[in-house]
Amino acid sequence: MTKIAVIGVGYVGLVTGTCLAELGHQVVGVDIDQQRINNLEKGIIPIYEIGLEELVVKNLKNKNLSFTTDIGLAIKNSDVVFIAVGTPPMPDGSVNMEYVNSVAESIGKNMNGYKVIINKSTVPIGTGDNIRRIIEKNYNGSFDIVSNPEFLREGTAVTDFMNPDRVVIGTDSKKSADIVTNLYSGLKTEFVVTDIKTAEMIKYASNAYLATQISFINSVANICEKLGADVTKVSQGMKLDNRIGKKAFLNAGLGYGGSCFPKDVKGLIQIASENGVRFSILEAVEDTNMAQKQSLLVKIQKLLGEDLHNKNITIWGLAFKPHTDDVREAPSLTVIRQLLDRGVNVKVFDPIATEQAKKILDGKIEYEDNLLESTKDADCLVIVTEWPEFKEIDLKQLKNNLKQPNIVDGRNVFEVEEMKELGFNYISIGR
Ligand code: NAD
Repeated sequence: MTKIAVIGVGYVGLVTGTCLAELGHQVVGVDIDQQRINNLEKGIIPIYEIGLEELVVKNLKNKNLSFTTDIGLAIKNSDVVFIAVGTPPMPDGSVNMEYVNSVAESIGKNMNGYKVIINKSTVPIGTGDNIRRIIEKNYNGSFDIVSNPEFLREGTAVTDFMNPDRVVIGTDSKKSADIVTNLYSGLKTEFVVTDIKTAEMIKYASNAYLATQISFINSVANICEKLGADVTKVSQGMKLDNRIGKKAFLNAGLGYGGSCFPKDVKGLIQIASENGVRFSILEAVEDTNMAQKQSLLVKIQKLLGEDLHNKNITIWGLAFKPHTDDVREAPSLTVIRQLLDRGVNVKVFDPIATEQAKKILDGKIEYEDNLLESTKDADCLVIVTEWPEFKEIDLKQLKNNLKQPNIVDGRNVFEVEEMKELGFNYISIGR
């Protein structure tokens, strides 16, 4: 059992802290958001994540997990301190490090003996050295810095944390590598132990590579549409090549969104440029993704004509992907804003993400809480997120509800042949 403080209890910090408590460690979660901490102390969690609430409640009860806003006390009482605060993008694409730096300063001011400082936030390469310098300004005892990037996916975060593909540990001391390996000894996984900068790069390179796969297959999809080929079969055929792999991220759709890929692609382009390298592949990945998010408009106009003024359009899906309420950089935002600009009467349905979307979206939007009802009298249904319940819908009833049987499917949820047979005007991606 190790005494651990996790600073920042958002998606990553809360999952990390809770799962480490579940693995038997003594964890305190720290945040500057008093409301968030008050709620967490009562077992109310700030995000939608399958299985997380149960684990928080269980570990609060057995006293492996607690929450506080008192960062000083939490650091003093811990042997290991995780940094898991946000690293949002600045307007120029560089990474905003103010939260990480501020936590590093608090750590320096509250050190009272040897501790391992583990950075889980996604940070520019070289940040480990910077955190060390900030701590050393305030403390001259011994400590170790470790980079331990997180690879969990929102929507399956708890499962991903407990069953990781790998745990990356970047450090220059054997002592801290052993301490961190021990923290995770309850997990069956492969450990990759490297120096700090390499670990920091593994995180950026992984996310940028996954984003590249998405833009790549979306470009292939756009050509398939022109030629009458089927991108889903192309992808299936590609994945059977062992060098590409069965789990490759090759689902054509509306492009990537969320709080990580857009920011990390931008971040790596910027890091490359600061070091005299032009990462032109990633510049193209970004451009392709932007165009893909905007590409539904043309498809909608193909069905409804150029002038969309006063048309009724229903959007299914606000979250950037299923099983999360996260709408940061979600393609839904781009599509909805395009439609509002053209005077469309927009109705939306999402099983989970409506409240988050309301905080970001302006304009006259009707938020529906019933999936089928949301399609009543619509001139077109537009599918933006592939929530599983969309696939289960009664298609005949759906057709009866729509004013015109028009569907633009940005996630290839339905089968083209079946939709044709049922009499829908159905346009999807790359098929
Ligand atoms: P988030 O915005 O959900 O949470 C950050 C939390 O840190 C917030 O609760 C905020 O109040 C708190 N915070 C900010 N400053 C603080 C301070 N000085 N002291 C204490 N708490 C403070 O962020 P997130 O999505 O969990 O991301 C955190 C990091 O992990 C980022 O670098 C991100 O890139 C990386 N990451 C995120 C994911 C993901 O899926 N969300 C996956 C892997 C890595």
